[in-house]
Order: sequence, then C-alpha cells, then structure tokens
Amino acid sequence: MELNASIKYLKGVGEKRAAMLGKLGIFTLWDLLTFYPRVYEDWSKITAIKDAPLGETVCIRAIAGMPCREHRIRKGMTLYKTEVTDGESLIDITFFNNKFAAEKIEQGKEYLFFGKITGKGYYRSMNSPEFTEFDGTERLRPIYPQTAGLNSRATEKLVKTAFEVCGKFTDPLPEDIRNSYCLMGLESALHNIHFPENEDMLSEARRRLIFEELFLLELGLMRLKTKNRRSTAFSMQKDYTSEFFNLLPFELTGAQKRAIAQASEDMMREIPMNRLLQGDVGSGKTAVSAALIYNCARNGCQSALMAPTEVLAMQHYKTLAKMFGDTDISLALLTGSTPAGEKKRIKESLKNGKIDLIIGTHALLQKDVEFSRLALAVTDEQHRFGVNQRGSLSAKGINPHTLVMSATPIPRTLALIIYGDLDLSILDELPRGRQKVETYLVNSEKRERAYGYIKKHLCAGFQGYIVCPLVAESEDSELTAATELYKNLSEEFFRGFSVGLLHGKMKPAEKKAVMDAFAKGETQLLVSTTVIEVGIDVPNAVIMVIENAERFGLSQLHQLRGRIGRGTEKSTCILISDAQNPETEQRLKIMTSTADGFKIADEDLRLRGPGDFFGSRQHGLPEMKIANMMTDGEAIRETHAAAENLLKKNPALEGGEYTDLRNAVNRLFSGGISMN
Ligand code: ADP
Ligand code: MG
Repeated sequence: MELNASIKYLKGVGEKRAAMLGKLGIFTLWDLLTFYPRVYEDWSKITAIKDAPLGETVCIRAIAGMPCREHRIRKGMTLYKTEVTDGESLIDITFFNNKFAAEKIEQGKEYLFFGKITGKGYYRSMNSPEFTEFDGTERLRPIYPQTAGLNSRATEKLVKTAFEVCGKFTDPLPEDIRNSYCLMGLESALHNIHFPENEDMLSEARRRLIFEELFLLELGLMRLKTKNRRSTAFSMQKDYTSEFFNLLPFELTGAQKRAIAQASEDMMREIPMNRLLQGDVGSGKTAVSAALIYNCARNGCQSALMAPTEVLAMQHYKTLAKMFGDTDISLALLTGSTPAGEKKRIKESLKNGKIDLIIGTHALLQKDVEFSRLALAVTDEQHRFGVNQRGSLSAKGINPHTLVMSATPIPRTLALIIYGDLDLSILDELPRGRQKVETYLVNSEKRERAYGYIKKHLCAGFQGYIVCPLVAESEDSELTAATELYKNLSEEFFRGFSVGLLHGKMKPAEKKAVMDAFAKGETQLLVSTTVIEVGIDVPNAVIMVIENAERFGLSQLHQLRGRIGRGTEKSTCILISDAQNPETEQRLKIMTSTADGFKIADEDLRLRGPGDFFGSRQHGLPEMKIANMMTDGEAIRETHAAAENLLKKNPALEGGEYTDLRNAVNRLFSGGISMN
C-alpha cells in the first residue's frame, strides 16, 4: 500500500473506523504510522506472583494450569476464573461476564498478563487483565491516544497491520547527516517508537524522530527567511537616526544604539528588514523604534506602530507625540474606540500620505486602512499576536520593513524556533541609573505593613500600584475583587489619598482617563488587575504590592514588576502570598533573587510547563507530532546548527541525496504558513 493511501483501505478499517481515526487526525497510512504512542506499558518487567503487591498494576508471566471455572454470583453477573502459575505460586485470572476472554486462555500455554492485583487475606487474583501469549520477547507496549470506540489496543493492531503492508520507507534524512549525528534510520525509528525492542532503542528512536521533525522545521523557516530577502521594499536613502538622538532627554544605551544601527542598516537595503528587537522590560525598546520611525519620516515614508492593547497604544502615542513635538512629523492614533468621524479623517490622511506615523491596535489591520508609502511596520509585544497578524500589517505596504519588539518571556531556545525567520537585536543593557527592583515575599499577616510602606512612599511624593490577580472562575469576580479592594482601601487605609481603579472591563475611554490621571500624578495609588501588565510607563511609580502572588506565572510577575523601577529611584515590589506549598514558595522566591527576564522565563517553563507561553496554535507554526518546542531545548539547538550548516553548504538543497529532504520540508509547510 502507498503511504499516502486512505486509511479506509487498510485491513480492519471500514467507513466507521475510518471516521473514528479521522477524529484522531489519521487519514492516511502515513498518518497512522506517525501516530505516536503517548506512553508505554512496561511488559518487560516481570513480577513474580508471590511478590506482586496488592493494588498495584504489574506484569506476570504464567502458564494456564486448569480449565476455566464459572461462578454465577448473582443474576447477570458471572465470574470466569482461570488459575495460572509462574512455577512458584498460583494466582487466579478473573473475568467478569466475559467468557470469550477467559476461553482464549489455553491450558499449558504461557502468557504475559498485565493488570491490577486484587484479593483478600491470602487470596490473590488479577481482574480482567490484558494478556498476550508469551513469545520469548518481553516488551514495552504502546498506549495511544484514544477516542470513543477506538481503544489503544485496537490502534496497536492497526499499526501492526500497517507495517505489514506499507512497503519501504524513504528516509528524508540523508546518510551523511544521520552519520554525523548518530541517528538511526527512519524504518527502525518508526518500528521502535511503536514497538520498542527495549528502553534504549526507544530513546534512540525518539531522538531520531524529534531531530527529523525539528530539522525540517528549521530548514523550512530558514529558507522562508532567504525567500523573504528577494522581495523589494523602500530603501532609506540617508540615515538620519543621529539627528533623532538630539530629541531625547537622555543618552541612549550602547545596546539601544547598536540595535538602531543594525536596523537602520537593514533599512537602507532593497530587501525588507525582518528584525526582532528583544529586550527585557524597561530596556527602552520604544526609543529604538522611535529612532527608526523618525528616520523613515525624514526619508519621506510612513510608519505604523501596532500594540496589543488600547492602553498601550495610547501610551505610545503620547510618548512619541512628545518626542516628535519639535519636529514636523505628523502622527495619529487609531483604535477600536476612535470616533467614527475621526477614524474616517485619519484613514483619509493616511492614504494621502499626510500622516507619517499611525499608532494603534489591531484596528490597523482592517482592510480600509490604506497607506501611501508604508515603509516600516513595528509590532510591540510581539508574543501577544499570532504570526499571521504580524504578516497582515506588513501586507499593507509593498513589503515594508518590519520590526517586532518583545519583552521576551520566552526562553532562548524557543525564540530560536518561533522567531527563526527573523534577525535578532538584543537590548541586554538597562538604561543607566536604573536600579534593581528590590523584591520581597511575605504572607498576608504582613499586609498592613506593606500598605504602610506604600503610604510612606506616597507621602514622599511617589506613586504605587496594588495588583490583584485575575480570578479564574469568571471575569466578574475579577472585577469584584479589584473593585472591592479599591473601595476598602480608598475609604479606609488610604483615606485622604487619591486612589484610582483600573480593570479589564472598563471602556477604553475610562481606562484612558484613569491612566492619564495616574501618569500626570493626580492619582497616587492605582489598584489594578493585570491590565497594567504590558508596557505601562510611569517612572514616578516606585512601589508595587501584588496580592495572591501565587496565582501568577513568573513571567507575568516579571512583567508586572517591570512597571516599577523605571526611574532613577529605588523601587520595591512586595509579593503577598499565603500559599503553603513548598513548590509555590520556591517559585516565588526566584522573583526575589533575580531580575533577569531570561532566567525567569526558563524557570517558569521548567516549573509550570509550556501552557503559559502560547495557546498551542497561536504562533502559526506547523504542528509537531513528537517534538516539544518547550522542553526539547537541546534538540532545538542541535538541529538549528545542523540546518544552518547544511544551508550554508547547499542553500537550495540541490542534489539527488537531498530530494527526499526537500520534499519533506515542502510537505511540512504545505499547509500554508504566512510568514511574510
Ligand atoms: P520597554 O523596553 O519595556 O518597552 P520603554 O521603551 O517603555 O521600555 O522604556 C522604559 C523607560 O525608560 C521609559 O520611561 C523611557 O523613557 C526610559 N528610557 C529608555 N531609554 C532610556 C535611556 N537610554 N536612558 C534613560 N531612560 C531611558
Ligand atoms: Mg514597551
């Protein structure tokens, strides 16, 4: 049978089963062969009957000694028992109402039985075990993801049949690569992933399949990147960025200057820039993008800056309007809540080229937002958008230069994959005078003291935040928590101070009013949910108390904490948590010991797993069948280097020995991935 033949034609599969398999994403023979087991039952570890612990699931190897006995225990319930022995002791194998199973066990034959040991006193039985005739090999048996009507054993049987009829495999990994990385062949890997000969073979099979999957992904992404390079864009005639430096009230850091120089050089070329600017919270990404926007405007082109929330878009608008105050650069803000009349005017001026810079939310992606000369598309907090959305902003110009900015709650290895098609600039230096935010972890008995500490700072003319967690059950309760806390605090502990409230359910205009008041210093203390997490910049705010800190992920705490420590004043973050769990405590302690966003992201990944970083498909990459982009960091590094090496030698993967590899890469990306 051809590997891409429909699964319907496999022996044992009809229309009905084909539909069930379809639910598991299996449509072809190849899909079935690459439908990998989740876990394995260890049928290789044989337990002696006399050592089998009550209540445990074990594997025993035993010979059926006596014919099957029937016990009718009540109406509709018959037990079928067969006594078996491993030569030392006896045990009953019991089936309930299943004469068929019981009679399959033949006297005098040797079997492996896998099941749970039950019994009372000295009596022992294994109830409804799985069993197979012992053929001299003891194995790891695959457990597959299941769906209604199709259990793991049925799938196992189909996979066995598939192997019998499938013919030869072509291995996409050429021999030289297999040799240099000591990888087993595809055929052997597939056999061993389903029916491992032993633990070692299983782990070699896994390594090989993970390597292949990531290698193909890396190759695909890298080739996409070079493809990008062929298209045209607006190239900047002159570099005006140093002119921009004079508009700033501060001296840029070396890292900022470096990033600006790299990007500016990109933008002078006739191939579009495709660059990721990675920098921890507070590293000054906005100023970098502003320099490029300025440069673009002075070259007679337009720029767009897209942010994930209205609050952030508004803030960028204000920051940039101030920076460009003494220039003739015209800018506008376009979000979902811009009044219709104004929206129309803005869109008109954008199209006419009267606006040099448009700042907004994904409202910018609407069809009727058109530009006359869009040359630079900047996306802030990139990880909040899918790859596809980023694409559509750049689709607005004739291949504009793109810059994406991210505060990197993403481990390095993962960034390599997700951003594999981008060039990278890193802001690894915080602005001078910036101090580490002192972070403390306390329990709620110390809450009053923490609040008192805030009060002291407010009296000294500073501002602060109190953050309440998002309560999982409903958005309403989130609202209640924040609202109630706000009410209590403003009426009692902080009476006489000016306290503000910010939460996700507010209308954008209300949020703006609250943020404005806080930015101007009219509000001293802001009680907030996590809406302040992204990008808010009020340097006079130097203290933050985070309630129920255990409910947040580390990366999220790091983002939140990044709202303070933005000026030259010493800043303090107090995490309040009553969590007793030592793991949680250990996790929160990390916050008190490091300020390194990369380190925190790695810890978060290790402790909490991948769920926090992305929704599964959000990044828009092809689905992985066996590799785990969150945990296979070592393999990602290895394959990244391997792919880079190979493409350096052979950019188009030419030559017969690479035909299968080339085809496999194309297949992987055939679902269409829009990374332009
Ligand atoms: P992020 O990288 O988190 O987006 P921002 O761009 O919001 O950081 O910058 C954080 C704060 O640091 C802002 O108040 C900004 O004006 C200030 N800032 C940026 N660069 C410098 C610098 N080189 N020196 C001093 N302050 C700076
Ligand atoms: Mg920012």
